[in-house]
Amino acid sequence: MLVFQDAAAQRHDTGPHHPERAARLDAVADALASLDLAPRTLAGTRWSDPQETIAFISTLHEVGYIERFRWACLEGRPYLDVVDCAIGPASFDAAVAAAACALAAADAVMIGPGSSAFSAMRPPGHHAEADRAMGFCFFNNVALAAQRLIAAHAQARVAIVDFDVHHGNGTQHLFENRGDVLYISTHQHPATLYPGTGYEWERGRRGTPGEGRTLNIPLPPGSGHAEAIDAFDRLVLPALAAYRPQTILVSAGFDAEARDPLAGLRWTPTTYEAVAQRLADAAVKLAAGRIVTVLEGGYDTHALREGLARYLGAIRSRLND
Ligand SMILES: [Zn+2]
Repeated sequence: MLVFQDAAAQRHDTGPHHPERAARLDAVADALASLDLAPRTLAGTRWSDPQETIAFISTLHEVGYIERFRWACLEGRPYLDVVDCAIGPASFDAAVAAAACALAAADAVMIGPGSSAFSAMRPPGHHAEADRAMGFCFFNNVALAAQRLIAAHAQARVAIVDFDVHHGNGTQHLFENRGDVLYISTHQHPATLYPGTGYEWERGRRGTPGEGRTLNIPLPPGSGHAEAIDAFDRLVLPALAAYRPQTILVSAGFDAEARDPLAGLRWTPTTYEAVAQRLADAAVKLAAGRIVTVLEGGYDTHALREGLARYLGAIRSRLND
């Protein structure tokens, strides 16, 4: 398993009381250390050049938005687009580096069968839309990784499984009219949680190749391990098997855990292990073992450390990676 991380993640300063804070990286570091996983940097990859990364980001995000973000940081603005997207002077560089690590992870799984990769970065990405920041997210890291597999590695079908407790509105919207990306999301029911999208009837844009290529699985507030595993066994895994993705990408948020302060599901560290086993087995069966995981949310540092350790440990042992 290859883990990518860049020091710029530490410098994305969201202020003293923001849940998406640099201290989350300490929890990530603890989880990686418990598995003897040492992150590698972008050195030696094409994504060590920010200009190269920005050029790729512009294949999914509007150039005007990218420039607006860059200038907001240079001018010392406190946030971009919405107050929850707090920024500091180094946030643009951090967001570019987060995209770069996701792109490096996508490239890394193409080196051979049974390869998994993890981008251990912040800011997260799945709320980011083509033209605006939302929900602590600026560039859609997992969507860029999917796009990379399609554009540079000739993949015709990739799947994104998003188990962050929030619906990945940005990821859904970026691909809702395309047939080459299957987007599957489990999340707390949108009537009860930000961002308010992700109803079951959102299934991809009608009359386009994306119709039927979005699968939203809202979970009732207060539900826990049993409901999550039921959703994976009954809905997520059959949808993956029917689509036959060439790579499985994972938007891994750890905020469905019971201790998370932002949401109301009751997943446990064991839930993350069970989910990882299922996704790894699906990757082996369907996608030559290729699985790319990108960090999204998770705001209780204990829950993040334990959930991530159990998740990555299960992927590694199932893949012998
Ligand atoms: Zn989230």
